[in-house]
Amino acid sequence: MRNYGNLRTAVVRLLTVVTLAASGSVVTPMAAQAEGLFAFPFATGQSTYAAGTHTDTGRDGGVQNAIDFTPSDYTVRASMPGTVHMTYCSGGPWVRIDHADGWNTGYYHLENIQVSDGQWVNTGQVLGKVGNALPCGGYTTGPHVHFTVWRYGNPVDLNGLWLSSWRIETSNGQYGGSLTKNDGHRVGMPSRFQAY
Ligand SMILES: [Zn+2]
Repeated sequence: MRNYGNLRTAVVRLLTVVTLAASGSVVTPMAAQAEGLFAFPFATGQSTYAAGTHTDTGRDGGVQNAIDFTPSDYTVRASMPGTVHMTYCSGGPWVRIDHADGWNTGYYHLENIQVSDGQWVNTGQVLGKVGNALPCGGYTTGPHVHFTVWRYGNPVDLNGLWLSSWRIETSNGQYGGSLTKNDGHRVGMPSRFQAY
């Protein structure tokens, strides 16, 4: 649910202008990136519930840049190294991490948050526990992390994006799609799967 694009900095706008000038077309954030750039936002080696890909709000329309996970250990971890940016709403804080090359990842619904604003985190560092927190609105039907990807504050279509050694495919509807491991093992979503 959190589109913070309106908070983009002048630097980002400048970069966008430069990119526009170079390409001569509208910038569309692409998911194209190498396997291994992002890790799952939890430790592998455990049974995990994946609720499927969806828009940030969970409503139809827009880019599917979010996916929900509930790992068995309930522990949410940084997907990539970066700097924590805490956003505070009436219901409490939520965690975003700003990474190299303009990537941003969001971790919504967390409880027992273990990091603070401005803190550097490495991949796999504990951020908190999956939960039902609704700091800035939204809804949950059970503890999970709403994991969201942006680049320079723009939502990134998760179709084709890799998390650890799994490639995400989105579907036309909300809360669907699949995950395909690099050994060819494929799991549809929503489902519980072994994240190896
Ligand atoms: Zn979600």
